[in-house]
Amino acid sequence: MSKTLQAIRGMNDILPEQTPLWRYFEGTVAGLLDGYGYRQIRMPIVEFTDLFKRSIGEVTDIVEKEMYTFEDRNGDSLTLRPEGTAACVRAVLEHGLSGGGQVQKLWYMGPMFRHERPQKGRYRQFHQIGLEVFNLDGPDIDAELIVLTWRLWKLLGIRDAVTLELNSLGTSEARGRYREALVEFLTAHLDQIDEDSQRRLKTNPLRVLDTKHPETQAVLVNAPKLADYLDEESRVHFEGLKARLDAAGIPYVINPKLVRGLDYYSKTVFEWVTDKLGAQGTVCAGGRYDGLVEQMGGKPTPGVGFAMGIERLILLLETLEQVPESIARQVDVYLCAFGEQAELAGLTLAERLRDQVPGLRLMVNAGAGSFKSQFKKADKSGALYALILGDDELAQQVVGFKPLRGQGEQQNIAWSALADHLATCVVQD
Ligand code: ATP
Ligand code: MG
Repeated sequence: MSKTLQAIRGMNDILPEQTPLWRYFEGTVAGLLDGYGYRQIRMPIVEFTDLFKRSIGEVTDIVEKEMYTFEDRNGDSLTLRPEGTAACVRAVLEHGLSGGGQVQKLWYMGPMFRHERPQKGRYRQFHQIGLEVFNLDGPDIDAELIVLTWRLWKLLGIRDAVTLELNSLGTSEARGRYREALVEFLTAHLDQIDEDSQRRLKTNPLRVLDTKHPETQAVLVNAPKLADYLDEESRVHFEGLKARLDAAGIPYVINPKLVRGLDYYSKTVFEWVTDKLGAQGTVCAGGRYDGLVEQMGGKPTPGVGFAMGIERLILLLETLEQVPESIARQVDVYLCAFGEQAELAGLTLAERLRDQVPGLRLMVNAGAGSFKSQFKKADKSGALYALILGDDELAQQVVGFKPLRGQGEQQNIAWSALADHLATCVVQD
């Protein structure tokens, strides 16, 4: 006997019961971004491995241990994308989209792949919606990115459940000076910090700030503060961002330990976090990466962006019971036809109704069947109404119009009046 086929651990099917919520979420974000003038870009899911090594940084969690990397038949090393920024920058450079200082406001959506330990809110294939803006270096655009997510949280009904955490990483020079001070401090306390942090101290010292280890956290209380090393330009930029968020009435918390996992950030970094999802609390994260485009071979080009985790936001909608009721129903009307003549008439009637009633969700019974079995299928479809077409109805050019959810009595409606009737009782929302 063959073994049962199974999906790869941490890579989930999104079943038909769940897709309405996904489409609602994705549609809400797409509509919002249209309203701010952002344009969608679609990149391949697989890229050369070097792209991620060069952009994300060799000594990050992603590149060190989370990438799905393989050799293809040409012997090239390829990687399933772990995030979207690298590929987006690659596409922008390859097609000259940022040349001559052109401003680009882009967004993308799709699956990302990281070999992590699967758990609630953390998967090996997960989905992000990301935004990237090129050639704008002021705090006004950092603020816009945050303002539009703030609006999104309101649209989704989850604003009260998320908190904005902010930090500034300064320029790479400022960060370099801070890194030296931090290394000096931590080296003096080497025996008090955990093993993982000792390793990070050598490879990527700022990441020690991110530690979950209580003893190391205790040591860090007295460590030098990044804020004290901030250069004047970054300080002014950060003040500009805060002033705009204050003006927009968006609350935030300054988190001096927020360093983000990727190497390419500078100045602004932020995360939207929730305490409603347990350990996987960051639903949206991003920041400024003014050095990245140049590092990837382009002209110096300021950039800023973020990505949100769709699974985590969907979990949040479910946890907070913010799933709109209207998205659950996928069929409005179910047409039952009895006998060959009625089936033929039903087919043309259904097509005419689809022409006449935009947005109508009409399912036609397939597979014939008795009264009983067709009504059972009509009921199971979730439809509000059944349309009934048998020999009698055919002769009179009417259909039986039967409410399935207890909204009144069955009645006959003439074919000629049916479109108007359906338009009023089904397609209002
Ligand atoms: P974390 O600290 O949770 O590992 P990260 O800093 O690695 O997150 P980013 O690379 O900033 O995450 O990705 C942006 C967002 O994508 C995260 O805030 C999160 O919502 C989502 N995300 C990241 N990794 C996963 C994953 N393995 N499964 C589900 N969602 C994820
Ligand atoms: Mg991670």
